[in-house]
Amino acid sequence: MGTTISLKVITACPKAEFTKIANSVFQNFEKIETQFSRFRENSEISRLNQARGIPFPASEELFTITEHALKLAVETEGAFDPTVLNSLIAEGYQSDFETLEKNQSQTDDYLEPVDFRSITLEPESQTIILAENVALDLGGIVKGYAVDCAVKILTQKFQHFLINAGGDIYLAGKNLVDEPWRVGIEHPTKKGTLLATLAVSDRAVATSGSYKRRWKKGNSENHHIIDPKTGHSAKNELVSVTVINQVVETADSLATAIFVLGAKKGLALAKNKKVECLLATQNLKLLGTPGIEKYIN
Ligand code: AMP
Ligand code: MG
Repeated sequence: MGTTISLKVITACPKAEFTKIANSVFQNFEKIETQFSRFRENSEISRLNQARGIPFPASEELFTITEHALKLAVETEGAFDPTVLNSLIAEGYQSDFETLEKNQSQTDDYLEPVDFRSITLEPESQTIILAENVALDLGGIVKGYAVDCAVKILTQKFQHFLINAGGDIYLAGKNLVDEPWRVGIEHPTKKGTLLATLAVSDRAVATSGSYKRRWKKGNSENHHIIDPKTGHSAKNELVSVTVINQVVETADSLATAIFVLGAKKGLALAKNKKVECLLATQNLKLLGTPGIEKYIN
């Protein structure tokens, strides 16, 4: 997934059994990567993107996640939009982040305006139809989904664990000293410094930020969250958004959506969706929903 996955489990279960379960968790991440990575030519999503204009019979997972993404697109009036791929590539994110050229020269990439309305879902045949000029990118939601799948496997055997896929996290039960797990909100520029610490048990915590996946293109500093209204990297007062709720997929996608919306509209969305959220602004002010207080440590 172009990201590090870490797993911590507090258990007395025999090592061999633990290793077996951990392996099935990691294999499942690998399976989701081979299905959803836009950087793999043969992934299901790449095959769908190559079949623009043609009805594409999708797997149940691809169909369901696309359905969830489109629902959020409608609810956020397009702030969350899984058709931002053309814009993302035009901004310079055209390959795996690890191999991406971080100092790119300016190019004149013409962008045809597209949006989520150019995707048609046919539930009966589980078919997805993309308009000719559209590409689907589920990067804002699928990592959360993958962590939810891991949680399903882990909860069959374990009560206390933490699973983290690059900032999309689930924290079950308690930590080694029998307290709620702690999650640090990183300072955007000072490595190793935290802006806040959240104490969480049996919750998903997902963070979207503009400070990690950044690069230069010509004179502009770009990052990986696109404002679909402009087609460029979202620019507002925020540097990071953390959402807490029960389901990682929801937390992940809402964090991306709230980042695009900015503080005022983003907090209104969090309230509407009944999730807690913590926002960090460019000048390092922390804002949040009233209910976030109980998690701040
Ligand atoms: P996250 O790190 O969860 O905020 O997800 C960022 C990823 O979501 C990007 O790498 C893109 O693949 C995708 N993305 C970027 N902007 C948007 C957007 N406005 N709506 C939906 N997905 C987006
Ligand atoms: Mg996200």
